[in-house]
Amino acid sequence: MNIHEHQAKALLAKYGVPVPKGGVAYSLEEARKVVDGLAGPVWVVKAQIHAGGRGKGGGVKVTKSADDAMAAAKAILGMNLVTHQTGPQGRKVNRIYVEEGSDIARELYLGAVVDRDFGGVTIMASTEGGMEIEEVAAKTPEKIIKVRIDPAIGIQPFHARRIAFGLGLGLEGKQVGAAVKFILALYRAFTDTDASLVEINPLVVTGAGEVIALDAKMNFDDNALYRHKDLQELRDPDEEDPAERRAAEFDLNYIKLDGNIGCMVNGAGLAMATMDIIKLNGGAPANFLDVGGGATKEKVTEAFKIILSDPNVEGILVNIFGGIMRCDVIAEGVVAAAREVKLSVPLVVRLEGTNVALGKKIMAESGLPILSADDLGSAAEKVVKAVKEAA
Ligand code: GDP
Ligand code: MN
Repeated sequence: MNIHEHQAKALLAKYGVPVPKGGVAYSLEEARKVVDGLAGPVWVVKAQIHAGGRGKGGGVKVTKSADDAMAAAKAILGMNLVTHQTGPQGRKVNRIYVEEGSDIARELYLGAVVDRDFGGVTIMASTEGGMEIEEVAAKTPEKIIKVRIDPAIGIQPFHARRIAFGLGLGLEGKQVGAAVKFILALYRAFTDTDASLVEINPLVVTGAGEVIALDAKMNFDDNALYRHKDLQELRDPDEEDPAERRAAEFDLNYIKLDGNIGCMVNGAGLAMATMDIIKLNGGAPANFLDVGGGATKEKVTEAFKIILSDPNVEGILVNIFGGIMRCDVIAEGVVAAAREVKLSVPLVVRLEGTNVALGKKIMAESGLPILSADDLGSAAEKVVKAVKEAA
């Protein structure tokens, strides 16, 4: 789960991470109160959406009077903000964050991620603040400092000092001390909340030598959210993909992808294998969808509707291995769903396992143009071919 910048800043501030003073606003009236409550002389008005690159897209405005701040608030609230992360359709801005401007001397990068290769948290830092870390990693990997934190020992001040010195922070003006405190607090916030990613980009050093978070992005491990009731309340449904949200309601594991072949599979491993074999046959999966082991007819129907709600879908491959799940139940669900949604794209079904003969019979007798396949390889081949022919 992702949260907004203003929420991440409030959360990090609780752990002692220094952030500029600011407030969130959902309307111009609220913005007025926040603007008047800040001393100035600079006000920064920032669109709150779950996507980066807001600055370049016109979603961050630095203003020098309360009136200009209000004008920026008026322009940003309700705007459709397009950044390289939102895609061309953009994202509607429903809330803004207004904060006191900072006197920026240096813009740095600081992040923490769950590093799967190493099995712990890796802290990353770079002098190239404001730039995307992926770009820095691709062009100048030597400019990224990485420090791995052994989970059994946790972060130690020497880890933080290594990062601070690596960023060229000096001992004069207590910058190293400030950065060390910042990094230790950030790590504690990360592990306490079961975060999977924290990104401070930019982390700034001010003219007065303070070290503060000018931007903050946090992601949390969904599987740990059950033990963070307070974090669950930070969820913003407006920022979630409607199809993924609907899938979650029906307990379906659905992840939208960029391709054109919708997949409905039982079991995560089989779903991955199905996506691989579609690729192998020259196609591209439109989604990952695991209907689970005990799917009902209703669940299968819903899964079908979710797959078809994606306008990119030009064909569907259903791949079910009936173990606990019976093939006849799946076949009934597929037939019912295909009728209900008035299926207009090619559908290939591969069934195997319990009651497979009955399942195939139900589909064959349905009168629907369902293409049946006996094994995964030929199923993928058939759907890729059918989509090409239909195009
Ligand atoms: P992002 O573009 O979505 O990553 O949004 P950021 O919060 O990182 O803001 C983009 C840029 O706006 C930053 O890299 C800064 O250069 C600038 N910016 C943000 N806050 C301030 C501020 O308080 N003062 C000044 N001068 N610039 C700011
Ligand atoms: Mn940023």
